[in-house]
Amino acid sequence: MSADVLALIEHRRGEVRDISLEILGAARVLAGDGRVIAACLGAPGAAEELAPRCDRLVLVNDPALADYNPEPYQQVVADLVAAHAPALVLMGHTPQGLDLAPALAAAEGWPLATDVVDLAWDGDVLTGRREVYGGKLSAHFRLVRGPVVAATIRQGAFEPPAPGPGAEVAEIGPPAWSDQFARRFIGYLEAAPGEVDITQADVLISIGRGIGKPENIEIANELAGLLGGAVSCSRPVADAKWLPKDRQVGTSGRTVRPKVYLALGISGAFQHQAGMKNSGTIIAVNKDPRAPIFGVAHFGVVADLFDVVPKLIEKVRAAKG
Ligand SMILES: Cc1cc2nc3c(=O)[nH]c(=O)nc-3n(C[C@H](O)[C@H](O)[C@H](O)COP(=O)(O)OP(=O)(O)OC[C@H]3O[C@@H](n4cnc5c(N)ncnc54)[C@H](O)[C@@H]3O)c2cc1C
Repeated sequence: MSADVLALIEHRRGEVRDISLEILGAARVLAGDGRVIAACLGAPGAAEELAPRCDRLVLVNDPALADYNPEPYQQVVADLVAAHAPALVLMGHTPQGLDLAPALAAAEGWPLATDVVDLAWDGDVLTGRREVYGGKLSAHFRLVRGPVVAATIRQGAFEPPAPGPGAEVAEIGPPAWSDQFARRFIGYLEAAPGEVDITQADVLISIGRGIGKPENIEIANELAGLLGGAVSCSRPVADAKWLPKDRQVGTSGRTVRPKVYLALGISGAFQHQAGMKNSGTIIAVNKDPRAPIFGVAHFGVVADLFDVVPKLIEKVRAAKG
């Protein structure tokens, strides 16, 4: 199967996001002998990073595209698809992709699959898989090509492509538009910086809902103190304000790559995994042997964390003398 694939690049303040490289990786595989056409809106400085990873790079520049504005983005992507006639349009399953892809699919009549973790062509049909119920079940789908189909891909599900010889780069201006958009980007809300920077820690003791109550966080603090690490958490712990938001790992928190990531009572939802799966050594402690965290852990302990952690603290203390 050979099919041109249009990959929509996502950036924040001009910096290419990891998901964009994963979109290009998926596009490379699905294009076969066809072309990977990367569309980068509002980030001319990203050309150097993107060009080796696609066959054609289209840069569309305009102040209205520097940040994600739904209406101009929709107009530009629809125009690019009309001009390049790809068989498939790929975006990230991110807040931006979740906003843009359904709007485009509805307006243009494209069949759309969202949050996909596997994709392949079966003749003219795009087949794929999504995970449902927190990763416990897989749903398989088939989208009949005709002539364009679209998909949003889950963060962390596809590998970035190896750099190649470099793309042909085209810089184009935006279409004529009135500036009277109903929805408009206003600004970013920055999280207040905390005392602990979990992105810099070599060892993270990460706690999830399994920690039970805020008083129990003390055992994680104690272990982190002994190992010279920091305590991070899953979203429910931050949502409950048991720890500050800047300790949250995952798609709506921080991405971390410590040498050791010890996950205590964390189920391992994909939103969490996306923020920690590239850690050096992942150790998970969970009572449920089917918890998805064991799918990314290098070492798994099926046990009650309140049995394991005190013993671990004892051992580390003894080892330190
Ligand atoms: C748009 C969006 C963005 C999101 N962003 C994030 C994000 O950035 N980060 C994030 O983490 N989540 C995020 N989530 C939430 C995510 O989907 C999960 O709901 C969340 O990660 C679950 O957190 P958890 O694993 O702590 O809790 P649960 O899923 O409730 O898991 C608790 C686990 O603890 C285990 N357990 C319970 N007691 C014990 C014990 N005593 N000993 C050992 N194990 C025990 C249980 O077996 C269970 O597996 C997001 C969701 C959405 C919709």
